[in-house]
Amino acid sequence: MTTERLGQTIIAGPCAAESRDQVVDIARKMSERDVRIIRASWWKPRTRPGGFEGAGEAAASWAAEVTRMGITIGTEVLIPDHVRQVVNGVAANRGIPQNILLWLGSRNQNHFIQREIAREMQDVPPEVKLMIKNQPWGDERHWLGIVDHITNAGVSSDRIMLCHRGFDPYGRENSRGLRNLPDWEMAMRVKEKTGLPMLVDPSHIGGSVQNVFRVTQEAIRFPFDGFIVEVHPDPTAAMTDAKQQLGTEQFDQMLKIIRG
Ligand code: PEP
Ligand code: MN
Repeated sequence: MTTERLGQTIIAGPCAAESRDQVVDIARKMSERDVRIIRASWWKPRTRPGGFEGAGEAAASWAAEVTRMGITIGTEVLIPDHVRQVVNGVAANRGIPQNILLWLGSRNQNHFIQREIAREMQDVPPEVKLMIKNQPWGDERHWLGIVDHITNAGVSSDRIMLCHRGFDPYGRENSRGLRNLPDWEMAMRVKEKTGLPMLVDPSHIGGSVQNVFRVTQEAIRFPFDGFIVEVHPDPTAAMTDAKQQLGTEQFDQMLKIIRG
């Protein structure tokens, strides 16, 4: 029998929401596996112009359908207006706006924007949670500072969770070829200092399917409060992060590692 570690959250789903069928299909598959939170970003910040920037508000009706299945839908928000677009978009499509998780991604490091996003959180249902991912560079003070910017703007700590997604390896030893380097000790210190739940994102740390498994094996040695994993119904056809997204059978192997 598998027993999930107490209080562990599992968030799974595609990097980006691409189509209604992709989002609803993965939500069905994940709910069959007792995963209650689906990720599928409506917007994708890109390193270079020309790539897929996300379906944007077109994802509202797909997300609404997922919330009606009793599942929470999660997306990154880049600007304050995105908060309202997601919540109002889900509500306007007969969805359940309480079943929403939003997050600040690693690239979003303008504290004026972070603060405005936090302020928007006060005008949406209190059940809507905000996940804060670490910034790309390995600075503990900065990560703690984002949390302070958000809480000082009035978001209560019971609506916040944190996520370690590794730090950019630029200029650092990276013999394992990871996309981002974990700092497990720092993640644990930040969890301790803030008292907030700390999730881990082995997908953006790993960068490839094989690495995602390796990173997960390492992460389970630490008391993380959950995992966020990229899973796609057809990873080879994914419009973003194709190399690191797991297929559903690979995700089943992952669940065995996570759930023990
Ligand atoms: C994501 O989770 O969709 C993402 C873009 O990750 P990060 O901000 O950690 O790079
Ligand atoms: Mn991704």
